[in-house]
Amino acid sequence: MNKKRRPVASKPSGTTSKQSLGPILVAEDDRVTMNLLERKLSGWGYQVHRAEDGQQAWHFLKRPEIRIALLDWMMPGMEGPELCHKLRQSKKSHYTYLILLTSRDTSFDIIQGLEAGADDYMTKPINLLELRARLQTAHRIINLEDNLIKAKRRLSRLASTDSLTHAWNRRAIFGFLAEELSRFGREGRPFGLLMIDIDHFKEINDRYGHPAGDSVLKQLVTLVRSNLRNYDRVARYGGDELILLLPGSDKKATETIASRLLERVRQHRFKISRRISIQITISVGSTTVTSSHDMADNLVKAADRALYQAKKLGRDRMVMLDAAEKNKK
Ligand code: GH3
Ligand code: MG
Repeated sequence: MNKKRRPVASKPSGTTSKQSLGPILVAEDDRVTMNLLERKLSGWGYQVHRAEDGQQAWHFLKRPEIRIALLDWMMPGMEGPELCHKLRQSKKSHYTYLILLTSRDTSFDIIQGLEAGADDYMTKPINLLELRARLQTAHRIINLEDNLIKAKRRLSRLASTDSLTHAWNRRAIFGFLAEELSRFGREGRPFGLLMIDIDHFKEINDRYGHPAGDSVLKQLVTLVRSNLRNYDRVARYGGDELILLLPGSDKKATETIASRLLERVRQHRFKISRRISIQITISVGSTTVTSSHDMADNLVKAADRALYQAKKLGRDRMVMLDAAEKNKK
């Protein structure tokens, strides 16, 4: 086959016997440099994706698995710095380490390349030992970046969940409520709110100890979750109180869900120890959104008021506050 007419490979090449260093993009229109780089990088354990112009390079760069790219400065279609700039503007979720390959080495050009978003640059002809060392830096930066993202996710989860039950916390549920209220304003999609409180929970603590009470709380959250749709939100409002946000549920659907939960809790046996399991009941206050003027605070207060009434009426029941009652001070 005529080497010059060799089509651009879109599949990675490389060896499998060595330690795999993952995919790498080489965007280079000069075949001699490209072939040399491909051979070396494959030998080191990379799966090399070849791009011979800026457009092809952009196609690969967008892919999440491409985390390292060697980009020639001058290419037809789109030049290296432009690619760097475009990638940094994009919302690619995984950081991609960009090394510009250039025959320019004046400080003005270098600054221009780095300002466009490149992490590093190398002047041609490429010193392969140096390239290998720079790729190690690339891996170190990518690992740091990945760990940072994981830590951020962990922190954000911790900041929005309750540490005992892993249900959402109060702050998070108010965020979801605000979203649902704004959706109600835009699309008129209803939603229901349930406030749940365990009946005579103190007696469980007093009789079996605080850890047993903790365990009942956790089991209740699991039970409630298993009886809801996965886009319903369960939050711990405080103490033995949960708050449930039911997107898309109108008054009737909210009532049905509340009745079902009351029944499931009545039937469930909560494990206290290997030998002891107990039955509990809950009281439920419920309300639904009825006006785009409804406020998160007022809805929660209404559900709380309904819950108070359910307790007063004898517990183990649901009270729904309708629109007129809801807006009473
Ligand atoms: P009621 O039927 O009126 O709700 O009676 P109750 O005993 O459940 O009383 P209330 O809801 O007012 O009090 C809840 C109790 O829950 C008070 C507190 O000791 C207990 N509690 C609050 N947070 C926790 C917790 O994280 N773990 C445990 N084990 N108990 C908790
Ligand atoms: Mg209680």
